[in-house]
Amino acid sequence: MKPVVLRVSREAMGTQFQIIVCGDNERELERAANDALDEVQRLDRQMSAYRRDSELSFVNTHAAERPITVDPNLFRLLESAARIWEATEGAFDVTVGPLVDCWRTFRTLGRLPSQTDIERARALVGMSHVQLDARRKTVSFDRPGVKIDLGGIAKGLAVDHAVEALCTWGVKSALVHAGWSTVYALNRAPDATEWRVGIRHPCHLEQRIDVVSISDEALSTSGNYERSFHIGGVAYSHIIDPRTGWPARGILSASALSAAAVDSDALSTAFFIMGVEKTKKYCDTRPNVGAVLVPAVDDEADLKAVRIGRAQ
Ligand code: AMP
Ligand code: MG
Repeated sequence: MKPVVLRVSREAMGTQFQIIVCGDNERELERAANDALDEVQRLDRQMSAYRRDSELSFVNTHAAERPITVDPNLFRLLESAARIWEATEGAFDVTVGPLVDCWRTFRTLGRLPSQTDIERARALVGMSHVQLDARRKTVSFDRPGVKIDLGGIAKGLAVDHAVEALCTWGVKSALVHAGWSTVYALNRAPDATEWRVGIRHPCHLEQRIDVVSISDEALSTSGNYERSFHIGGVAYSHIIDPRTGWPARGILSASALSAAAVDSDALSTAFFIMGVEKTKKYCDTRPNVGAVLVPAVDDEADLKAVRIGRAQ
């Protein structure tokens, strides 16, 4: 019997999540996919910094006043974020919120922020301003104005949760993605050994610059083509180096490969900032992590993907 392949999509976290499930029973596959997408939407409502009624917004508003008890899922995510912050020497930092807001304001004004504006925002940025109490599951900030932005990691978490939901339903083969920026491949594609996932050419979005084969692994891509903006004719990326307060430069697209989507999502953001050499160093000591980076070049003809670690 030919396996059924079903595609189900839903809008969440500002993008189009899609689940491609393979199996024998179409009705069961549909139920599994919808259940998984319900979970994605639940996480969106909980973790969005844009929704005023989200649990994260409550934390951002009150965690400087008193420790706030949070849902175990959110607490675990913040612990993962803290771990990756440390491992990437502060390149990945969910407390980047005040800098994101600063750059958004000046983007609207059509001019660059002054160094004073940047320093003011930067004084509120850093995981050292966040205390996580593992016993009480509380979050607190050491000063007002600290703001957590999960935009670089929440889609990964949602993909992992969706995959877990599919597994609970007994699904054996699936591809789950968040607008293709984070993809998880469960097991193998019906007629192949692994799922083959393309990486977008950062200058010609309809083309691929590379293809990676994955199975029970996640691949995330952070590209300069997503949400970058122009001030005075210069393009600035939506990914900000928290240590300088300036948008990251030098990389056009960074992809990260790892066992969990929550990690690949955060790491693609970090690798975009870290560049080729630091990413190589990171992957050297972590055999399960890989990267595909596309460094900026003067002449487009020289553009190429650099495969690192597990992606080689
Ligand atoms: P992504 O497209 O997954 O790389 O995530 C980019 C989003 O993460 C941005 O739109 C910001 O909301 C947030 N962000 C920007 N810079 C950083 C950073 N250095 N660390 C963590 N999150 C960031
Ligand atoms: Mg990311």
